[in-house]
Amino acid sequence: MAANPARTPTPSTYDVERVRRDFPILSTTVNGHPLVYLDSAASAQRPLQVLRAVEDYETHSHANVHRGVHALSQAATAAYEGARERVRRFINAGSTREIIFTRGTTEAINLVAQAWARNRLHAGDEILITALEHHANIVPWQMVCEQTGCTLKVAPINRRGELEFEAFLKLLGPRTRLVAVAHVSNALGTILPVERIVAAAHAAGALVLIDGAQAVPHARVDVRALGADFYTFSGHKLYAPTGIGVLYGRQELLTAMPPWQGGGDMILTVSFEKSTYNDLPWKFEAGTPNMSGAVGLAAAMDYIESLGIDAIAAHEAHLLELATAALTNIPGIELIGTAAHKAAVLSFTMKGVHAHDLGTILDSQGVAVRTGHHCAMPVMTFFGVPATARASFGCYNTEGEVAALVSALRKAREVFG
Ligand code: PLP
Repeated sequence: MAANPARTPTPSTYDVERVRRDFPILSTTVNGHPLVYLDSAASAQRPLQVLRAVEDYETHSHANVHRGVHALSQAATAAYEGARERVRRFINAGSTREIIFTRGTTEAINLVAQAWARNRLHAGDEILITALEHHANIVPWQMVCEQTGCTLKVAPINRRGELEFEAFLKLLGPRTRLVAVAHVSNALGTILPVERIVAAAHAAGALVLIDGAQAVPHARVDVRALGADFYTFSGHKLYAPTGIGVLYGRQELLTAMPPWQGGGDMILTVSFEKSTYNDLPWKFEAGTPNMSGAVGLAAAMDYIESLGIDAIAAHEAHLLELATAALTNIPGIELIGTAAHKAAVLSFTMKGVHAHDLGTILDSQGVAVRTGHHCAMPVMTFFGVPATARASFGCYNTEGEVAALVSALRKAREVFG
């Protein structure tokens, strides 16, 4: 991941124009302008390699998985379970038993909240999060607090949007049962010191869940090296389809957890007196899964590795550096989130202009940015703004697109005076 973007050189071998040809949607025009897609943190576009893998699965291999003896069912099962092995390799998990397919990060965190925390935590226990979390890593824990009587603690951030590590350590104690933190903040771009967080949490006897939704597209993630107990992410931010995501959990923990949803596929036997549950990972995958989504996710991982995740990260860090320098020179623009360690996310406000109005003016020039609270309302409250505009970069963005963003912002400045 971009350790310090300001010191990251342009990767001379990275051929972004070749990458762009893999993404047909990027040739779209919007309001008469070429599309400048700067919203990959919300959802990334899919390359032809992913679209074709999904089409190929749907055209030649689709049937229901696991239960059929016929050829197509076996083909679908092989594709689905093959995708699980692909995910295992991508994040270097020890076993496919530790890879649970979910609808996305949100469902993965809720799974841990309901199947682990709800069954183990009591009044007096604490869950520790940070002040920069996405709602998906706040609300499930608030629900657990309501259900069990345990308490939610929040470690503060500073004005740059960095975790106050000393304050975090002070909040970590014998009552802390779980630390749940983002790897990268979606609203601010801050990269959290997850290795130090894991070490401190484990020393205090707490488990750690890392919300990797914004990290996996930009960095090599090795769950074993990180020592994470749980790690979650979504396919659609990783150039894969929507409706597919991953919960990684250490096998020992997942084995001890009861299922959270009941139905087909998660059982071994069912009678009216008693049902018994399937082995990992299927124990947590009730009902017919998203096979084509899993196939698309595996293809996206192949694609990312064909470009090289380090090369993507260096390219994005270069764009972030360019954009940060350029936006700083536009009168009235304030960057929200100026951490020393950032991924390719740039949140900002323009003085006197609501973020939604700004987003509309940018869209009229073909520039797609996200505006709003980015599902991180407490972050907006902390910075005293109702909303920000957010430009986020992916493997296909160019220096020309950074220039287009800057020129659209200058035009907006003229329009709003
Ligand atoms: N966590 C973070 C940091 C995110 O950025 C997002 C999505 O924006 C989520 C969780 C939720 O992801 P999903 O909506 O794919 O479940």
